[in-house]
Amino acid sequence: MMKIVIYPGSFDPITNGHIDLIARGAGLFDKVIVAITQNSSKTAFIHLDDRLALICDALKKFSNVEVKTFNTLLVDFAKKEQARIIIRGLRAVSDFEYEFQLSGMNKKLDANIETLFMTPDEQYSNLSSSLIREIALLGGDISNFVPHNVYQHILKHLKK
Ligand code: ADP
Repeated sequence: MMKIVIYPGSFDPITNGHIDLIARGAGLFDKVIVAITQNSSKTAFIHLDDRLALICDALKKFSNVEVKTFNTLLVDFAKKEQARIIIRGLRAVSDFEYEFQLSGMNKKLDANIETLFMTPDEQYSNLSSSLIREIALLGGDISNFVPHNVYQHILKHLKK
């Protein structure tokens, strides 16, 4: 049976840390579905449609990675995609509490779904989308932290 895994997140924006995890997942499983959540559209840094297009483009070199958006319960989306495994990243101990709660709740919602935690290469352990947003808004250089197409999109849209 095909081992399909879901990697959910808001990816607003996607960072090189996320991509490190996706590459690890793509090496371990038959298919990785990167599942983008809308969150509140009013507070989105990059519009959901643009995020989808940018992430697809940044990940096109991975033949077994698909990118989708979803606005349902994660466990329902996983079931629909015939995935039993959710991948999440752990950068530091500080991620643990929230991730522990989330995985426990998802298990209560659907006992068949497992959450697997992976750590990125340590050069990415201080990277977060929220920090990238803050640095970009203050005019800092984020070119080393996100894929090139995402960097260019952010530069262009911040100038407006
Ligand atoms: P969410 O909005 O659900 O927190 P994010 O898009 O911020 O989603 O992150 C999605 C997943 O990727 C989470 O499991 C998060 O811990 C993980 N993650 C975020 N940044 C990194 C990074 N630099 N390295 C590895 N994993 C990361």
